[in-house]
Formats: sequence, structure tokens, C-alpha cells
Amino acid sequence: MHWTRRGRVNKMSDDLPRFDPERDPEWRERLTDVQYHVTREAGTEPPNTGIHYMEDRKGDYRCICCGHLLFTSKMKYDSRCGWPAFHTEDQNAGIKRIRDNSYGMLRIEVRCGSCDAHLGHVFDDGPIEFGGERYCINSASIDFELEVDDAE
Ligand SMILES: [Zn+2]
Repeated sequence: MHWTRRGRVNKMSDDLPRFDPERDPEWRERLTDVQYHVTREAGTEPPNTGIHYMEDRKGDYRCICCGHLLFTSKMKYDSRCGWPAFHTEDQNAGIKRIRDNSYGMLRIEVRCGSCDAHLGHVFDDGPIEFGGERYCINSASIDFELEVDDAE
């Protein structure tokens, strides 16, 4: 492999999001290059570029790959970190946490509890009143579903 990213070189292929031979063709077809790279190859979108970063309307955030409910607008807050940030996950989201040693840092990667899509990372500098965690999530990995009441 010619990848220079440590994440590609040093991680076992088992550490990348689970490859799903049945759904992969659909994802390659439907997702944009950035969405595919982030979710299936554990990529990261550039800061301040994601479409959901400044989103503050009411609604639900679902996995871009499988539609699984991950977060709601009640859990989102303005972290000013460049990516959408959430302090809590939906109680049925079942988001997976995986140790990520890439780039010489120990971070905790988070993935969709249903299809294993890479979402981002979770850090411990979130709002204390909600437990102190910050889910730093790529816009490219989530789909926003505007709440009907708010959609006028
Ligand atoms: Zn998913």
C-alpha cells in the first residue's frame, strides 16, 4: 500500500469499518466521494466544511449509510470545533467505541451501532452538565431529518 496515513499503514484491515459486500455497491453508488471515504474508510472531512456543522433546527440525525437514528437536535451543541458536536447519543443508537492509535494519538473512534460506519471520535471535553463527552462527528456521516413542526 502506498498510503502514508498511519491509520492506513498500521491498522489491521479488521480495524476499518466492517465491509458489507451486499450493501457496498449501493453505498458506492448513492454516497458522495466524501461520504463514502468518511464512513467506509474512516476518513475525516476538513473542519468547517460539513453541511451540518452550524445546523441548529430541530430534528433527527441518522446514519448516512443505513438510516439508523444516532442523535437528535437536543443533543447537539455549538462546540466551535469545526465539526458537528453532540454531548449524548440516542439511547437506542448503540454507538460503538474503538481505540484508535492513528496519528500517534490515542483517541476513541465512534461507529454506527448498526452498519459500522465511521462517524468520528468522542472526546472528554464536552459539557459537564451532560456528562462531559463531546462526540465530534463528520457531517458526511449523518443525514439530518428536519422535524415536521419546524419545517415551515
Ligand atoms: Zn449505519
